[in-house]
Amino acid sequence: MLSIPALCWLCRLPLQIAGHGLCSRCAALIPRLPPLCPCCALPASGAALCGRCLRHPPPWQSMTCVSDYRPPISDWVLQLKFSRATALRVMLARLLLLKLLTNRRDNRLPRIDLVLSVPLHRHRAWRRGYNQAELIAKPLARWLGCEYREGVRRRRQGAIQHALAAAARKKNLRGAFHLEMSVLGRHILLIDDVVTTGSTVSEISRILLAQGAASVHIGCLCRTL
Ligand SMILES: [Zn+2]
Ligand SMILES: [Zn+2]
Repeated sequence: MLSIPALCWLCRLPLQIAGHGLCSRCAALIPRLPPLCPCCALPASGAALCGRCLRHPPPWQSMTCVSDYRPPISDWVLQLKFSRATALRVMLARLLLLKLLTNRRDNRLPRIDLVLSVPLHRHRAWRRGYNQAELIAKPLARWLGCEYREGVRRRRQGAIQHALAAAARKKNLRGAFHLEMSVLGRHILLIDDVVTTGSTVSEISRILLAQGAASVHIGCLCRTL
C-alpha cells in the first residue's frame, strides 16, 4: 500500500480523507474544464465527437485529461519532472484516476487491462532523472487492478519535440518507437504527462493497434487546449 501523507499536498492542512492528497478547498483551484470531445479532449459543443475527430479520427479511441495546461497543474507537472516528490505524484495520479473513473462510469472507457507510459529516451531520462509519465502510470495501474509494463521503447533520440513545427514533429517520430511485448486483444491505457499536438501518442497508438490491441485510450495530466 502507498504511504500517503495525511496533509494536503498544497496547503499542508490536515486532510479529512487521507488518501486524496489534496483538500477539497485546494481541489477547487483546479480549473473546471469546458465540455470536451471524448476522443481528442479538446473543447467541443456537446458530448459527441467534435468536427475535427469526425473528419480525421485520431488513431486512439478516447482521451482523458485532468486540466488544460495552466496553473496550478502545469506548475505541478514541471515539479514532477525534476523531483520524485511522492506526495505530488500520488496526488496527480489520483486526479487522473478520478477522471478515468468518471469516463468509465459514462461508458466512454472499457475495462483497461494494460497501462503503458510514453517512454523518454534513455539518455534524456538519465539527465532529467525521472520519466514522469511512468511515475503516474504505475500507481494508476495498481488502482485500476491491471498490469503496468514498459512495453514501448524509444529507438533513437529525435530532435527535441517541442522545438519542432507539427509537420516536422510527425516526421521526427516516424520509426521512433518499437514495441517489446504482445498487446493482442488488450484494452490499453497510454499515459503521458502533457499532450500538445498529440503526435507522440498518435505514433504509439498506431503501433499498438497495428499489433492487434483491442483499443487505445490516452490519459494525461494536461491537454493543451
Ligand atoms: Zn489544501
Ligand atoms: Zn475531437
